[in-house]
Amino acid sequence: MKIAKDTVVTLQFKVAEPTGKLIEASREPMVYLHGGYNNTLPKIEEALEGRESGDEITLNLQPEDAFGARDPALERTIPKSEFPPGVKVGGQLEGRTDGGEPHVFHVMKIKGDKVLLDGNHPLAGRALRFSLKVTGVREASAEELAHGHVHGEHGHHH
Ligand SMILES: [Zn+2]
Repeated sequence: MKIAKDTVVTLQFKVAEPTGKLIEASREPMVYLHGGYNNTLPKIEEALEGRESGDEITLNLQPEDAFGARDPALERTIPKSEFPPGVKVGGQLEGRTDGGEPHVFHVMKIKGDKVLLDGNHPLAGRALRFSLKVTGVREASAEELAHGHVHGEHGHHH
């Protein structure tokens, strides 16, 4: 069966730098509902359209087609005294954007009495090479289509 709108796709994936240096590899397969439900990057959906189980694709994406450009407004420095206890470098905390929207910030560095936070996606501003291997394609259920996401193994449980 070919990947088309309203199919459920199972993938193994690797994300690397354009040089091929590995950034992240899937331990668990990724499962998503195909067809513009915002479950994965539009460029990935585009590349997978019409493919089938067993197909392998390598995709080089510029930052704007992957996780977007870095937004300097999402870099913050706060005094350590405002920092919740128990949070460490590499951790996350919820803050607010300049517009007042809740937003997750990553703790980048603690320097003296200052804490550097970054609310950008960790892969923002980077060109990326995706290696995708399709390991399954099936039709989505009516319930999955109504919800806009996959249920069952590796999907949503609710
Ligand atoms: Zn659901």
